[in-house]
Amino acid sequence: MNRRSFIKLSSLSLTGILTQSCDPTNFKTYDISIRSDMSIGHLLFESTSFPTRNIFSTDYLIVGGGIAGLSSACQIRNRDFVLCELSENLGGSSSRQAYAGEIFSQGAHYDLAYPEYYGQETLRFLKDLGVIFYDSHIGLWDFVDSQYLIPTQVESRTLTENGFKEQVLPSNNLKNDFLKLLSPYLPEMKLPTRLINKKLWSLNEISFTTFLQKSLALPSDFKRGIDYQMKDDYGAEAQKVSALAGIHYYMCRPYYTKDVSLFSPPEGNYYFINKMVNTLPKENIKTSHLVRSIKKIGEAFEVQVINIKQRAVDVYRAKKIIYAGQKHALKYVFPPDGYLFKDNEYAPWLIINFVLNDKVKSDSFWQNEFLMGDPHFMGFVDNASQIRIKENYRVFTAYYCFDSTQRILLNSITDRAQEIVADTVEKICMYFNQDISSQVEKVFLKVMGHAMPIPKIGYLFNDKNLVRSEPNIVYAGVDNSRLPLLFEALDSGIQAIIELDLV
Ligand SMILES: Cc1cc2nc3c(=O)[nH]c(=O)nc-3n(C[C@H](O)[C@H](O)[C@H](O)COP(=O)(O)OP(=O)(O)OC[C@H]3O[C@@H](n4cnc5c(N)ncnc54)[C@H](O)[C@@H]3O)c2cc1C
Repeated sequence: MNRRSFIKLSSLSLTGILTQSCDPTNFKTYDISIRSDMSIGHLLFESTSFPTRNIFSTDYLIVGGGIAGLSSACQIRNRDFVLCELSENLGGSSSRQAYAGEIFSQGAHYDLAYPEYYGQETLRFLKDLGVIFYDSHIGLWDFVDSQYLIPTQVESRTLTENGFKEQVLPSNNLKNDFLKLLSPYLPEMKLPTRLINKKLWSLNEISFTTFLQKSLALPSDFKRGIDYQMKDDYGAEAQKVSALAGIHYYMCRPYYTKDVSLFSPPEGNYYFINKMVNTLPKENIKTSHLVRSIKKIGEAFEVQVINIKQRAVDVYRAKKIIYAGQKHALKYVFPPDGYLFKDNEYAPWLIINFVLNDKVKSDSFWQNEFLMGDPHFMGFVDNASQIRIKENYRVFTAYYCFDSTQRILLNSITDRAQEIVADTVEKICMYFNQDISSQVEKVFLKVMGHAMPIPKIGYLFNDKNLVRSEPNIVYAGVDNSRLPLLFEALDSGIQAIIELDLV
């Protein structure tokens, strides 16, 4: 890319892709498919005229087929249960997409080896699923499918205003001081976070920036790197996330003393979804089923479910409910507990997969980070660094993380898709310093309005199951006071069933 286009791109970035207004005649038209969870309100409104079709009974009804809902389902796989997922596909924020035999992530795309002091229930669950084994040489739970480990030398590359860097945080004396400040917390930064010692809970009450500034002077480039990493994993910058969340990010594994495996199959964390689904009776999993309302009637619950494909309403009489959908809509679905989650704040994310039909002539790095320009653009993952079944297509998966106040703008995604895609292609062209636009055969775009609960000040250690209104309805998912991480989602599903079994 020449310097002129570079300057144009940077100035566009100031306003961000959601508010740009470009001349649509100016760019190539891409073949784009869109998945968006922003049209659910419309479906709910429309469904008031749908007929009631079937009435069913079940012991357990699970709302949501993301990691947490499926984790719950696995704990009760031999009991009478039904799982309802509103989307056509399972996975939620760990879903996937496919094109011509190539599969790729449309959300969460990796996890890392687990220390032995992590939660035993979840470790055992992953071991029973055949996902992990204990490596006694290194003292970590590592991944069985080792072909999906990403070699350190191709792990990441970062583009900054001053060119490429190997790491987001520059290696210098400040970084040494930063790590020295955080390293005493290493043995305490467990997953799930509910296991973290109470003596550290006060770190949940201040921001990560405040915590750091008590001991360190942070120059702008270093602060920018920290902000980028917080946004990448937590959906908000260091000033907003708690010190506990920030410390946890750097100290949740012995990164600086052991070789911690990075696991990233081509379909990303859908790998874990698949592992769980394969152990469940297929007929109990209902996709394209949106849970519209839950009412307590006598000792049971009456659950209205929109059967999206049949444009009808099914009614389920359920004895127990596991609510593993995002909680922002709970105030409509089950009003008595809606207020419990009123302080949750979610970062919207936009994911764009670019399927390329020709080889881009460049080295490939797994994670390609952007520490310049558009503050919402989090870079892209390149599948050329992953082991795939077929190697027909190269796929770049680009990520944008927006502020919660920008969610409304995502409503117009269909009208703006071509512009947004063209702008993202331009960013990737700049990264490779070559024009890739003619190689883009297909584009998939996924909009998640309530993708990631932000672990802001006061968010953690506030399990709503302790104050729920009904003993027989429990809450799972990362947005019940947990960090937005796979291990937390799995554990929340397991704990939900333990909680119900106590009733
Ligand atoms: C862009 C992005 C990248 C991420 N990357 C990583 C990563 O690499 N590694 C990692 O560990 N974590 C990552 N995360 C965090 C990720 O969110 C968690 O790891 C995990 O997938 C969360 O699972 P969950 O089941 O709690 O929630 P969700 O995935 O949000 O699942 C909730 C499900 O409930 C469904 N649902 C909601 N309401 C209803 C209803 N009324 N009726 C029926 N169904 C309903 C939704 O459609 C959804 O499928 C990422 C998150 C995002 C947004």
